[in-house]
Order: sequence, then structure tokens, then C-alpha cells
Amino acid sequence: MKDTGESKDHQLTVALRIRPLSDAELEEGATIIAHKLDEQVRPNRSHRSEKRGDEVYRSTTKCLIEGLISGYNATVFAYGPTGCGKTYTMLGTDREPGIYVRTLNDLFKAIEETSDDMQYNVSMSYLEIYNEMIRDLLNPSSGFLDLREDSKGEIQVAGITEVSTINAREVMELLMKGNKQRTQEPTAANQTSSRSHAVLQVGVRQQSRCRDILQEVRFARLFMIDLAGSERASQTQNRGQRLKEGAHINRSLLALGNCINALSEKNGNKYVNYRDSKLTRLLKDSLGGNSRTVMIAHISPASLAFEDSRNTLTYADRAK
Ligand code: ADP
Ligand code: MG
Repeated sequence: MKDTGESKDHQLTVALRIRPLSDAELEEGATIIAHKLDEQVRPNRSHRSEKRGDEVYRSTTKCLIEGLISGYNATVFAYGPTGCGKTYTMLGTDREPGIYVRTLNDLFKAIEETSDDMQYNVSMSYLEIYNEMIRDLLNPSSGFLDLREDSKGEIQVAGITEVSTINAREVMELLMKGNKQRTQEPTAANQTSSRSHAVLQVGVRQQSRCRDILQEVRFARLFMIDLAGSERASQTQNRGQRLKEGAHINRSLLALGNCINALSEKNGNKYVNYRDSKLTRLLKDSLGGNSRTVMIAHISPASLAFEDSRNTLTYADRAK
């Protein structure tokens, strides 16, 4: 794992995480070709990973919490080919919690420290976008859900399950359970390949207490997204259904890249087209404007992954 990128006052942060070589890559005799400029990447998979998970969180997402409780939307997404560590970064494991849980933990802590005349309510939804269709991962039997604009013109997922404030332990269990509902299909490139975007949506509602009456002051949303694998459809020898999935994935990743690219234009062309995919429509109120965006690109350090790594770095570079 290596990170670059600063996250102080920028609207857009781009970070890169290089996972260690996997056993399979070592067996294939892969050599490490991805190096951080100022430090050698070592294939270290064990004792330091806890510290590294924390490091990734601190250098990318932690700083969004203050904005969130002050009413600013934000989006964090993990980008990269299948098998490069997106789910490891976002969801993590029981022993090594990822960004979802670390963020919620710190959010609950930050809220506890705020003054008593403000009341906060945190809600959480977990969904996937698969083939341009939205499914509720906390209630998979509810079928496909639609995007709607509410009376304030904000995009909402109609009928999505919202769970309100619970502790981080329960959040982790809920997410692990939800993650098992994700649409995963084997491809030639990888045994389990995530063909869907998993989206954790956290809503923070702030109310003020005035003579015992609660009034809504602000509402902010944080999207944390484990994107579908960015590998090219052609590379995975996909046919039929798999090829169609690949086309949908490429289209939404391209739409996302285009939006971020348009937003990062310093001046001139600022037209942002959110309409090209479900993903970008959902994120409309949380990309650009006063919102902050963090992209964590993922690559393997292995020589065999060169093509995918180069494509990922090109995508990341276009964003910043
Ligand atoms: P993706 O979600 O991008 O398809 P995963 O997160 O499932 O990839 O990672 C693939 C494998 O590599 C998993 O077994 C995961 O535990 C391991 N892995 C990924 N990133 C790291 C890391 N930074 N340190 C240790 N193991 C990792
Ligand atoms: Mg994954």
C-alpha cells in the first residue's frame, strides 16, 4: 500500500493505494513494477496492515467528517481493477475495518462532542447499482428501486431502507451481510469479480432545539462507493451477459470520470453531465458545488498487471 495525495482544503483529493503482491502473483513469478517515488514498496502482507488501513483513512476520508456535520456533502470512491483491493479499503475485514466503519466511528464521536442544543440523526443505506439498476442491499427482496427528485430538487432513492444510528459493531455486521448480497460473477480474469457498484449512503440530519421544538437546520450526505472492477471488458474474454455488464460498467465509470474531470476544470468549460449513468445521477448533489470528492485508485504492484495499472493511473490523472 502506498498513498499519495493531500487532503487539506481541496475539493478533490486523488490517492493511490498499491496492494502487496498476492500469493498467486508470487507463484506466477511476478515482479514488482510499481514503486512509490520516495520509498520502496515491500511485499508486506501482515503485521503493518492495521496501521496502513488507518493511514489510508486518515489521509483521505477523515477530514470530510467536519464538513459533513457542518452540512457539506461528500463522496469517496474506490476505483480500480478487480482484485486490487477496493473492497479491502472500503469494507475491510473483521480484523482490519475499512473506511466505512472508521468513518462512521469517527462521525459518531464527533457528534458526541458537539453542543447539546444541536441534535444529530445519522442514517445509513446500502445499495448496489448493477446493469444500471438499483438494488437495496439491506433489503434485497424489494426489487429494483428508482431515483426521484424530492421537493427540494435533491435526488433520492425511492423506497430504500434507512437504518438510523447504531454502533460501529452493528454497522460492520450489517455491511458484511449486505456485501454478501452483491452481484458477483466469476470471469476469466478473476474468480469473484464485482460487477456492481456498492454504495454506502450516510445521511446526517442536524436539528436545533428551540424552546423544546426541533427544527431542521441542515442535512448532508456522504457517499462511500466501492466501484465495479474497471478492467476492460475485452480483457476478461466476456461474452453475452458478461459483456453487457462490462458495457454498463464502462459507461458509468466513464460518466463518473467525465463529471470529475469537468468539475476539476479550473476555469472555462464547467458543464457537468450527470445524466449519462445511474451512478452519476445518484451523486448529482454530492459531486461539485460545495461538496468534496475523494478518489482512491487501486493497483497491483505486479508486472503482469501493467496494462490495468496504466489505465487506472490514466483515469486518476485525468480526474485531478
Ligand atoms: P477488489 O475489491 O478490488 O476486487 P479485494 O479488496 O477483494 O479487491 O482484494 C483482493 C484480495 O487482496 C483480497 O484477498 C484482499 O484481502 C487482498 N488485499 C487487497 N488489498 C490488500 C492490502 N492493502 N493488504 C493486504 N491484502 C490486501
Ligand atoms: Mg471488491
